[in-house]
Amino acid sequence: MVDIKSLTIEELEEEFLQKDLKRFRAGQVYDWMHVKLVRSFDEMTNLSKDLRDRLSSEYEFTSLKVERAQESAIDGTIKFLFELSDKNYVESVFMRYKHGNSVCISSQVGCRMGCRFCASTIDGCERSLLPSEMLDQIYAISRYTGERISNVVVMGMGEPLDNYDNLIRFVKLLTDEKGLNISGRNITVSTCGLVPKMKMLADEKLTLTLALSLHAVTDEKRKQLMPIANKYSIEELMEACAYYFEKTGRRISFEYSLVAGVNDTPEDLEGLTKLASRVKAHVNLIPVNPIKERDFRRGSREAIIAFKNKLEKNGINVTIRREMGQDIDGACGQLRRRKLTEE
Ligand code: SAH
Repeated sequence: MVDIKSLTIEELEEEFLQKDLKRFRAGQVYDWMHVKLVRSFDEMTNLSKDLRDRLSSEYEFTSLKVERAQESAIDGTIKFLFELSDKNYVESVFMRYKHGNSVCISSQVGCRMGCRFCASTIDGCERSLLPSEMLDQIYAISRYTGERISNVVVMGMGEPLDNYDNLIRFVKLLTDEKGLNISGRNITVSTCGLVPKMKMLADEKLTLTLALSLHAVTDEKRKQLMPIANKYSIEELMEACAYYFEKTGRRISFEYSLVAGVNDTPEDLEGLTKLASRVKAHVNLIPVNPIKERDFRRGSREAIIAFKNKLEKNGINVTIRREMGQDIDGACGQLRRRKLTEE
């Protein structure tokens, strides 16, 4: 069955025309799905009962089930565990910032990239998410909180560029003015560095922010943390970053998870300064979140701030990722792992 929430308005019109349904019906159904955010055809009250029944039997209607929602007592962050129609689980996070509400979504069930410090990848990748399943994380959160969402980051479970076509379709639906109409500038896609896909993304003419999970400044060290470094060198990554900036005019962000004694030495600082200056990247430092399956430690708050200050002194634009939802398994993949272990 066709997954109706993954269709663009043009495709939906075409579908309906072929089924002898009036064109304006497509507009109504699209609006119910992508603006009013309803959970089923039955809620589409300006359609006749017959038509709703017919659509229910002819189309797959993606609607994620909130399996768990944990709200942080510290900062109001809410971590969601969603159940998909095939009983797989994905995680998303709702965060309140001064500049608006932000949602972090997953792009796959699990991940096959194998980064050593990451909880999402331990059991590999079960499958990629459909565009509708990425969208509905946002829609379900918007329904649950009743609040407007202005920023979306694709930084949850999975490697978004390993699910490229669905990601692009998801972005087109999310930025559609007939849908939630979120500006491309307010959408960030984070990648461990799939070079050919980074270049393809640069050519899409979308205004997305691209974040590169760098985490190390020499190939040797990066290979110890991220298996993908065996495939693409830092030199190739920097060329892809430069290309992205040239094509889109958008500054790249480097994600850099600080692991005590591993990537926080003076040589690391110097290397990071060089790379960030070269491609005019913004650096986002993430104090590593220790996961119980691995032995990575974070440095002290002071050490992290000192690292940041030195980068700043070197002229680099840098922030430390604010840690939200510390009391609710805020870090990627932890909630799903707990659920799976319970079962
Ligand atoms: N696959 C994408 C998005 C996933 S994770 C990517 O690799 O970018 C989002 C960010 O969190 C990435 O920078 C990832 O490397 C980082 N991350 C994953 N586990 C972490 C942990 N335990 N501590 C700190 N950062 C982590």
